Amino acid sequence: MSKRFYIETLGCPKNDVDSDKLIGALLADGMEPTDEASRADLVVVNTCAFIDEARRESIDTILALDEQRIEGSQLVVTGCMAERYGKELAAELPEVDQVAGFGQAFNAVLDGDGPQGSNDAGPVRKLIPVSSTPLPEFDLLNLPRPKSPVPWAYVKIAEGCDRSCGFCAIPSFRGPQRSRDVASIMTEVEQLEAREIVLVAQDLASYGKDRPDEMGAGSIVPLVKAVSDAVDRVRLLYLYPSDLSDELIEVICESGVPYFDLSLQHVSKPLLRRMRRWGDGQRFLDRISDIRDREPEAAFRSNFIVGYPGETEADHDLLLSFVKEAQLDWCGFFSYSREDGTYAADLDGAVDPQLMNERLAELRELQDDITATRRDALIGKTLDVLVDTPGIARSHREAPEIDGVIHVGQNVDVGSFAQVQIADALGPDLVASGVERAALEEAD
Ligand code: SF4
Repeated sequence: MSKRFYIETLGCPKNDVDSDKLIGALLADGMEPTDEASRADLVVVNTCAFIDEARRESIDTILALDEQRIEGSQLVVTGCMAERYGKELAAELPEVDQVAGFGQAFNAVLDGDGPQGSNDAGPVRKLIPVSSTPLPEFDLLNLPRPKSPVPWAYVKIAEGCDRSCGFCAIPSFRGPQRSRDVASIMTEVEQLEAREIVLVAQDLASYGKDRPDEMGAGSIVPLVKAVSDAVDRVRLLYLYPSDLSDELIEVICESGVPYFDLSLQHVSKPLLRRMRRWGDGQRFLDRISDIRDREPEAAFRSNFIVGYPGETEADHDLLLSFVKEAQLDWCGFFSYSREDGTYAADLDGAVDPQLMNERLAELRELQDDITATRRDALIGKTLDVLVDTPGIARSHREAPEIDGVIHVGQNVDVGSFAQVQIADALGPDLVASGVERAALEEAD
């Protein structure tokens, strides 16, 4: 009887892609997936280590799954936490059978006594393979993908990052940027058989810059064109503002999905420089209004860090007025988290946590109103939507999993495009005509 595996994925869409590829590798190994950890021979946690909160969630999840798993099963920890803190994890979590960093094969267990850390140069131990396949180091980035179970899918076009934003530790454990070949990306797009492809990377618009001879800066533009020709919808996440070229804006608008996920982080010029980032509020506003001139139906998302060392009341006020003026569709606000090994970790000017929370609450309240108003403005409009699951759809304005959704009738097929008229709005979500609002509120 073939062995069963269970994978728990934490963190960002890039981790979702890695898990998908691990699933593909384990299926190719003849193992069977299960959605119950208590029935699995191999339990895998694909962790996140971006900030404190994410690390706590990773540890809690590992311990919770250890509780659930069956006697004799293997508990493997992989992902960013395994890469960044492999040794510490192996030493401090006896519950874990193996800690496997990126691209480290893990369909194996140790012979009895204790875990092996992916960075552990400890004694060589006999490995007992769970399956027959030899234990390769594998190139996670280019592993094949199984067909997408939903009508959309993330595709990771590069790994790592060459920037050095003051608050971010990702380059320290995901390494420098490595862009994939266009051919390998297009093969994956084909394998997924999805109607919408969401392109992701740590620094998406820098795609190709790390391969100046074969690709070079601006390579994202022909890639978007190629994917846009191959599928119904292509969406881009994680755009660094300085790389939002006219050509890139044009190809996004022409793709039919004028959705701009701009990673701005703040708008105060002195604070952005302290974050070792480009730009300022006025330049961002000019770019946004420029895009709106080209495409009035364009939708915008951004993320901001609150409480970065040295953030003043004046900086906060600048961000408040920017949010008011920019009228973005979606915004995420995150409290600054001190990260070992980052530039900001040793900066003075720490912001009092209570003040940080007050600023966060003020920004979130302001943005919730803006988002609700922009959603209300769509009532009466007819929108083209892709149906993701029964009764749930998205137009070009909503990215999967992070933005609101559109409630549609159960009579529209999953995986199909439909035109629906918007009859109502429920905060970030929209309700198409023919769908009972009361039923949705009841379901909530
Ligand atoms: S662009 Fe900046 S925030 Fe994003 S992964 Fe790179 S260093 Fe981190």
